[in-house]
Amino acid sequence: MFIDVAKIKIVSGKGGDGKVGFHREKYVAAGGPDGGDGGRGGSVVFKVDDNLSTLLDFRYKKKYVAAAGENGMSKRMKGKDGADLVIRVPRGTIIRDQKTGQVIHDMSDNEPFVAAKGGNGGWGNTHFATPTRQAPRFAKPGQAGVERDIILELKLLADVGLVGFPNVGKSTLLSVVSAARPKIANYHFTTLIPNLGVVRIGEEQSFVMADIPGIIEGASEGAGLGHDFLRHVDRCRLLLHLVDVSGSEGRDPVQDVETINAELAGYSDFLAARPQILVANKTDLLNEDNQENLERLRAYAKEKGFDFVELSAATHGGVQQLMLKTWDELQQLPPVFVYEPEYVEVQPDVTERDITIEKVEDYYVVGGAWIEKIMGSVNTDDYESRQYMDRMLKKAGVYDRLEQMGVEEGDFVVIGDIEFEYVH
Ligand code: GDP
Ligand code: MG
Repeated sequence: MFIDVAKIKIVSGKGGDGKVGFHREKYVAAGGPDGGDGGRGGSVVFKVDDNLSTLLDFRYKKKYVAAAGENGMSKRMKGKDGADLVIRVPRGTIIRDQKTGQVIHDMSDNEPFVAAKGGNGGWGNTHFATPTRQAPRFAKPGQAGVERDIILELKLLADVGLVGFPNVGKSTLLSVVSAARPKIANYHFTTLIPNLGVVRIGEEQSFVMADIPGIIEGASEGAGLGHDFLRHVDRCRLLLHLVDVSGSEGRDPVQDVETINAELAGYSDFLAARPQILVANKTDLLNEDNQENLERLRAYAKEKGFDFVELSAATHGGVQQLMLKTWDELQQLPPVFVYEPEYVEVQPDVTERDITIEKVEDYYVVGGAWIEKIMGSVNTDDYESRQYMDRMLKKAGVYDRLEQMGVEEGDFVVIGDIEFEYVH
């Protein structure tokens, strides 16, 4: 079965918690803090795998979770980082945000893409020791992982797309010019999955050609098989539009061309405007009775301004000329379309309400997402910067809350990784 759209959930690993620990040794009364840091959580990473051609696996498995980081341990030992979860996808898979449909990333090149970053590990209490606070009884928890609902959509990456009615010889042509072995038979819809083949023109010259299942009338409105598959020719640079010029199935070749082109236009203007070479196939079946089909089609192509090539995919007549012409045309055309990311990650709303204040022995530990955000932008070595922080904390009501909790002159306050003595 061929699956080209899938909805999944990805979750990166939580960072491990920092450890509160104290060095213990026989005959040593009280050792110093020795709690290690938590390990980083694993990220969810996407990678292109050219051995894959469908998103079928994602139909059965819907949730992908990377490993959590291990918690910090005694003796200052850092917890192990969680392993990244690598998800392999076919080339041309577009990752979208499920809610907005916006493109997060187009998996078209070989660069791995980190779609959900693992949480940072928390600091162990070793980090919080200062000359005045030699035995800190707190550590930082690990950062939570990121959860994302996404859509994977496969839009094959091929230079050339073969389009045309069922049975006109698309699969036959692909099998003649490439190593691809699509199923070929004399009945409609033998091709149920798109096939890709590499066509070699010279040692260094090649292009990728896609054979997609037959497009029939009404495909752009969802009839038959074609509609779903049009997405796979959507980014081809050039279309080879195959027609059975012998009329072996009783249809009129000129009418066929118009029907298919109406389908492409029904899908998108963008696709309708794609350059085409009109290919009159099955010329080996021409005789006195149907010879005039060829002439009419040639005249039609001329009138509409299409390049026109005669072919017999079965006897290979004209195959080479067609491939050389295709190569020449490709040299004039822009590269395969790659989607730009549109999705901007929305930072969760952090507000003053997220501030936590905990009393641990004789010090007050201030934390939470808002504090982390502020502290991330403060340079504590800089006077101006410290003033700014002071104003922000005051405005956020941190000092009021400390007073309510009974803070006294000289008590220690810990914010992020700095510590100060409280003065009224
Ligand atoms: P598709 O549905 O467009 O992929 O068509 P296929 O490649 O499966 O071909 C349909 C039928 O037409 C098969 O029986 C082929 O052998 C036959 N066929 C394809 N090309 C030619 C040709 O150039 N001449 C003749 N006589 N038969 C052809
Ligand atoms: Mg076929």
